[in-house]
Amino acid sequence: MSKNKAVFLDRDGVINPPVYNPVTQEYESPHYPEDYCVYPMVLKALRKLTDDNYRLFIVSNQPSYAKGKATLENLQAIERILSGYLSENGITIDKYYYCYHHPEGIVAEYSGECRCRKPGTLFLEDAVERFDLNSGDCWFAGDRDSDITCGKKMGMRTVQIKNKHAGNKAGKETPNAFASDIFEAAEIITGSECNEF
Ligand SMILES: [Mg+2]
Ligand SMILES: [Zn+2]
Repeated sequence: MSKNKAVFLDRDGVINPPVYNPVTQEYESPHYPEDYCVYPMVLKALRKLTDDNYRLFIVSNQPSYAKGKATLENLQAIERILSGYLSENGITIDKYYYCYHHPEGIVAEYSGECRCRKPGTLFLEDAVERFDLNSGDCWFAGDRDSDITCGKKMGMRTVQIKNKHAGNKAGKETPNAFASDIFEAAEIITGSECNEF
């Protein structure tokens, strides 16, 4: 059976917690591999979505290298930790999409406007085309308003995952649903609120 539906997942605040940065005194994306950890319910949530025939994609803005706050090597080491962990546990992510740009970055190569930074939809358009997805059967799950805006622009349904550190990056959008974590989001998306054995 072909799989024409997918769940697009934001990463930071959804798959892994944000990390406190003492320099900025804010919770941010992880900048060091040793700071990286994954929420405990992630595997169970992703299995539930896979069992319901959803393809999975991760779509993440990672501007910290462009802003001079992290090395690209460290950001990519973190990406390898996550992809290794998920594949070792039998989870297939059809594609990981990372945007390293920032409109006001200080690293020339990654600075300026781009179409891949959420709420830009370039990555979603690419996945829809490449995997022959029906946008109306897809979901976007993320913690920030930019995630919700991104999904809505593509005609996807959206679930916003509560993140107490989201600050002014959340609260202005209207998703289809709210969830307390990725597992509750998976329950909403699959329409089933208990685990099947
Ligand atoms: Mg996030
Ligand atoms: Zn970009």
